[in-house]
Amino acid sequence: MEWDKSASLLLEKVPPFVQKIVREKVETLARERGKTLVTEAEVVAAKDRFMGKSNMQATPAKKLIDNEKLSTLRKYPKYFDKDGNPVFYQVKTCRGAEINCPFLITDSGILADKIRKRLEELNFTEKLIDKIEGQILPHHTMKLAVSGCPNSCSMPQIKDFGVHAVESVYVDPDCECIECMKCVETCREDAITVKNGQVSIDKEKCVHCGLCAKVCPVGSIKAEEKKYRVMIGGKVGRHPKFALDLLPQADESMTLKALDVCVDIILSSKTEHRFRTLIEQEEIDKIKKRI
Ligand code: SF4
Ligand code: SF4
Ligand code: SF4
Repeated sequence: MEWDKSASLLLEKVPPFVQKIVREKVETLARERGKTLVTEAEVVAAKDRFMGKSNMQATPAKKLIDNEKLSTLRKYPKYFDKDGNPVFYQVKTCRGAEINCPFLITDSGILADKIRKRLEELNFTEKLIDKIEGQILPHHTMKLAVSGCPNSCSMPQIKDFGVHAVESVYVDPDCECIECMKCVETCREDAITVKNGQVSIDKEKCVHCGLCAKVCPVGSIKAEEKKYRVMIGGKVGRHPKFALDLLPQADESMTLKALDVCVDIILSSKTEHRFRTLIEQEEIDKIKKRI
């Protein structure tokens, strides 16, 4: 069957190893539709039928494409669940809750589970498979991390989407400081000054670990609500970069909203660049406004 130029161009975009199958599928459908020439419309119709997002089962051609796309990652069990289904995101957590860590603000596993659930709801893996045209490689997958305190043992600063818990503190003027100096000794950032019963905290130095509030015996320093610092676009490799600050103090729902926006940036991009590059193209301030 003859193909016009635009249809031929579309076929050329299909990976070479499945072009023959795709050609047959398109032509079969075109014949069913009473056509003698394959145009762009026939290719699109075939794509909708065989690769569409309906409840229809994946066709052999689609399965073949997917299997080829996944062949590199199949070498690494971490990209597949126990049933062998692809999972193209990894959410690392710290072991704070498990080891009863003295620095723990919030169990990182709780937010990590919610992040995994959200990525599942968003069909991240399936959409990524559809988006990537050739083989899916490790750098295409999304790396995430959650830590239970600013010590950041799961290394959120070098992940696409990184979070650590924070606990801001403030001085309560109604509680008299007894100058025990426990807060000063505890603060590793040297952020606290106590003089003549007056306590001051240097907000530039403070990393919001909440430890000074824990040790203050009289409540002169108090902790605020536990929140999360959200960072995006960290990466290692040839040109390592630390993540950029997206939200310094976010609650859980804002954190998940930030995740939604980041996923949208990855999936809607027409390129296959690393997430950091996409952020730099989109600009961090514009991303903040979308949350
Ligand atoms: S990140 Fe903080 S809470 Fe988690 S293990 Fe490290 S020090 Fe402990
Ligand atoms: S919250 Fe942590 S870093 Fe900030 S002042 Fe207290 S002990 Fe220091
Ligand atoms: S721990 Fe509390 S009471 Fe002791 S010096 Fe610090 S603020 Fe004052």
